[in-house]
Amino acid sequence: MPSTDHASALREAGLRVTAPRLATLGAVAEQPHADAEAVAHAVRERLGTVSRQAVYDILNALTEVELLRRVSVGSRSMRYEVHRHDNHHHLVCRECGRLEDVPCAIGEAPCLIPHDDHGFDIEVADVVYRGVCSDCRAGIATAEAPPGSAAAST
Ligand SMILES: [Zn+2]
Ligand SMILES: [Zn+2]
Ligand SMILES: [Zn+2]
Repeated sequence: MPSTDHASALREAGLRVTAPRLATLGAVAEQPHADAEAVAHAVRERLGTVSRQAVYDILNALTEVELLRRVSVGSRSMRYEVHRHDNHHHLVCRECGRLEDVPCAIGEAPCLIPHDDHGFDIEVADVVYRGVCSDCRAGIATAEAPPGSAAAST
């Protein structure tokens, strides 16, 4: 997204257009699923003078107005991406933390309806698919059976 689009997105969300906000949006757009630390690093590379806390505050503000989406992947830190309002979900590798987008199989949120909603008006189901990515599976296979050791161990 060019920065003019980011500026109008900020305005439409009712936020003042500032250099740190533009840099934060730009950093997340360039580096989807970055954690706050990585975004702060990228913003400081662009602007030099922004404190980490300022970037964290901007991430929160932009998430609140749904310009950014915060992705919780469990014990690892929160990741950020530009909010596309597409209800997509994520695949997470439990070995290396690799994170991939996957379209929602249903499309519309909430895509999962509990058997008992306890009277709630359900808005969204956070779905995270967890497993082991192909690279890590290959690594695990090699570690378990190093070449040439198969004969010795049997
Ligand atoms: Zn992996
Ligand atoms: Zn995503
Ligand atoms: Zn879904």
